[in-house]
Amino acid sequence: MADMKQYVQDTLDLIAKRDPEQKQFKTTVSKVLETVVPVLEKHPEYKEQKILERMVEPERVVSFRVPWQDDKGEIHINRGFRVQMNSAVGPYKGGLRFHPSVNLDILKFLAFEQVYKNALTGLPIGGAKGGSDFDPHGKSDNEVMNFCQSFMTELYRHIGPHVDVPAGDIGVGGREIGYLFGQYKRIRNAYDAAVLTGKRVDYWGSLARPEATGYGLLYFVKNMLDDKNISLKDKILVISGSGNVATYAIEKAQQLGAKPVTCSDSNGYVYDPDGIDLEAVKEIKQVRRGRIKEYVKTHPQAEYHEGCTGVWSVKCDIALPCATQGEIDLESAKKLVANGVIAVGEGANMPSSLEAIDYFQQNKVLFAPAKAANAGGVAVSALEMSQNSERLQWTFEEVDNKLKDIMANIYRSSKTNAEKYADPDDLVAGANITAFVKVADIMIAHGVV
Ligand code: NAP
Repeated sequence: MADMKQYVQDTLDLIAKRDPEQKQFKTTVSKVLETVVPVLEKHPEYKEQKILERMVEPERVVSFRVPWQDDKGEIHINRGFRVQMNSAVGPYKGGLRFHPSVNLDILKFLAFEQVYKNALTGLPIGGAKGGSDFDPHGKSDNEVMNFCQSFMTELYRHIGPHVDVPAGDIGVGGREIGYLFGQYKRIRNAYDAAVLTGKRVDYWGSLARPEATGYGLLYFVKNMLDDKNISLKDKILVISGSGNVATYAIEKAQQLGAKPVTCSDSNGYVYDPDGIDLEAVKEIKQVRRGRIKEYVKTHPQAEYHEGCTGVWSVKCDIALPCATQGEIDLESAKKLVANGVIAVGEGANMPSSLEAIDYFQQNKVLFAPAKAANAGGVAVSALEMSQNSERLQWTFEEVDNKLKDIMANIYRSSKTNAEKYADPDDLVAGANITAFVKVADIMIAHGVV
């Protein structure tokens, strides 16, 4: 074991030496690689083939200037990136993020995680991430269009249905995907629908894509509980967020007979002892674009609390963080455990701190890590690519049934590898190992490339 721990450490030292400023990338890589040490032990060929050194070096990084003009005619210059991390399993695939915080460190760690998440889906997609430090907030539609067209005027050279297939992420929704697709189509003079996913359904997006991450989370959690002969029926759920993931997690939880009693936004959370009225939440957040505190005006039995972390003090059987990264710290984890939580499923990306995850695992809380539990979104994006290649659109039920199977497979393979190499309930290790072995074996089959 010492030998392979040293191999992991040497790889981390290499990252620190080459890119000392990329601290988030190094932290992410270190947490993943420490879980794959038992596999490295059993398979010395991974070290001989220098798989770790290859995996932490992106296949390609593109950085480019994005000049655009605002409505007053003033010129702005942003930075655009695409990190094409690994194409062993399929064409690069991963979202575009438009946010002032975007830099190479963040995109590299997101791309590294994406390689693993995408491999877990069992679908033919590699991993990438991209974006810009452009902030769409407060910009007019025309300014966002100008920016998207300029961004795509460079990006188009590096993507394609068989090369790299971007999607949305923070700051990139349906409007931006539309403008990006329009510009790609114009430059290429080709209707390559499968070059971007997250498209609107009328121009070949997939049915059930909006529902996919939230529904997929519940399918994963159901598999995890079924394995322990625990039913979701009548379980009290604490869910954070009231955006895309949270809304459809609440919907599927209710369909499966559970009772979600909370939801939140960035100002505070609502607790409804009768169970969340989802139609009211959709009306407030999707139709009126209002604040979640408006819920209590029409639901007098419910309580509204300012601040977000208090939601984890609500007594529940299952907690599903579905809002944002870093929502559950050690203190919140201790409150959940003290209140008897039996399972935690991550709908958001990296919502639990590393200390919180350790605490859940030490206290035998069933823990479904984001990489596995929220992979339903990217899985249905890959199904969107399949539909585009076929030039057909599947029904909601067809997509949903495939999603169900994919989430069951992700759970089963993660559990099998947890049992084989780690603590049998350690799905963090199980998911990392499943993805690592899949990507590493294909890399070896492809030779030294
Ligand atoms: P979204 O539609 O923008 O919703 C985010 C929700 O979280 C909103 O209700 C927002 O409230 C709330 N929120 C934001 N910051 C918060 C904070 N500091 N504390 C509490 N609540 C906060 O985003 P989403 O698509 O649901 O994504 C949620 C998470 O899931 C993200 O981590 C995302 O990366 C991850 N994820 C999403 C997908 C997908 O398919 N959408 C797939 C995989 C992972 P406001 O209304 O106040 O902004």
